[in-house]
Amino acid sequence: MIVASDVNLVYDDHGREVFACHDVNLTVREKEFVGVLGPSGSGKSSLLYLLSGLKDPTSGAVRYRGVEFRSCDDRRRAAIRREEFGFVFQYPYLIGFLSALENVLTGWLNGAEGVERAVSLLERLGLGEKMHRRPDELSGGERQRVCIARALLNQPKALFADEPTASLDPKTGGEVVRLLAEHRTGALVLVTHDRRILTGADRVLRMEDGRVFEE
Ligand code: ADP
Ligand code: MG
Repeated sequence: MIVASDVNLVYDDHGREVFACHDVNLTVREKEFVGVLGPSGSGKSSLLYLLSGLKDPTSGAVRYRGVEFRSCDDRRRAAIRREEFGFVFQYPYLIGFLSALENVLTGWLNGAEGVERAVSLLERLGLGEKMHRRPDELSGGERQRVCIARALLNQPKALFADEPTASLDPKTGGEVVRLLAEHRTGALVLVTHDRRILTGADRVLRMEDGRVFEE
């Protein structure tokens, strides 16, 4: 579904070339849970930017369903991200004056059944009793579950998660990843420095200095 071919992403760090991604070849298949394990600075976030078309590689190509992101204009890319991709980040970014339910609905695209679907997702994620609370009335793990519900609302073909457990304790983090994997509607690409949360992955890759290795 997503194919990266001979991909490099090079940053200029005061005249020095930094390979955030280095000769990466990677295929993400439909519905697959791919875990990417690597220390801080190994290029994990950069890899997600490339796979989701947020950044273009310095060289090489990234294709989504056969179409190179580079050939898509900004509007087309934004449409793909909104309609077909979901994102979960390290910190649960939510709007402070909206309820959990309203936060989930900020990403809603089509038609009237959005509320129904958001309520059902929040219930399945264990927040049925708390969906009318504001973010400051929720724990960190609960806030991250709201972010998961928001990311899943439009039933994305691919969900990208960038260290989604880094601000949580290990037990809550494990639970959050289990929920992400269980309720996903497409592929899940999850990058982390914590091996323990990847037990449910179909495939685990390792990242080191921008290079991707099979485990
Ligand atoms: P990770 O997410 O694994 O911590 P990143 O993808 O954020 O790694 O970064 C990979 C490498 O690229 C690091 O060496 C980082 O310092 C460098 N880097 C990331 N963003 C930039 C940037 N905008 N300019 C220069 N160097 C960057
Ligand atoms: Mg990162």
